[in-house]
Amino acid sequence: MEHNIKDNPLAESVILISKFRDAEETSFVLNRENAPWLTKILDNIKNEFEPDSVPEGTENIEIELTLKRDSNSTFGEYLYLEGVARGGYQATCVKCLVDTPLTFEKEFKGAYVNKRYEDDPEYEEVDEIFINNETADLFFHDRGKADLVDIVTEACFLGTTRYPLHDEDCKGLCHTCGIDLNTETCKH
Ligand SMILES: [Zn+2]
Ligand SMILES: [Zn+2]
Repeated sequence: MEHNIKDNPLAESVILISKFRDAEETSFVLNRENAPWLTKILDNIKNEFEPDSVPEGTENIEIELTLKRDSNSTFGEYLYLEGVARGGYQATCVKCLVDTPLTFEKEFKGAYVNKRYEDDPEYEEVDEIFINNETADLFFHDRGKADLVDIVTEACFLGTTRYPLHDEDCKGLCHTCGIDLNTETCKH
């Protein structure tokens, strides 16, 4: 079910998990219109890939997610989320240095548990927990306040490539004279 910005309880990234009904799943489709905080994530992606320019229409982001507040005997009250992060971004081809539009798509599952576990030595090295019958990435809420930027940013970045190419068969630049071997040839 889609919500407009007036009644979207995720219009801001920090949510009070007590606002969600116990053990009841709610689904959302977030975009920059109904959740303006997603713009910051696109800006972070741009800072990571540093394209020379971003043509209009290249950048987009859409987050489908289902969330549920629940509790169990191990963690107490928690927020469970799963969904898909999709979007478009501009990156510089690592071989020929030409900017190219790319897309990302990444499924995610995560749970926000009480922040006190963050300082618990038992959870120091833990970044996934078994909760809600799923293996979920571990995040923390602070006295019931969960910042969804954490899980959504992680999903978006995991969906982007570490090795952007404008084309799978990019020939790159000549190491000697620097010409673009995709469009020109040289004697080297
Ligand atoms: Zn290239
Ligand atoms: Zn050359």
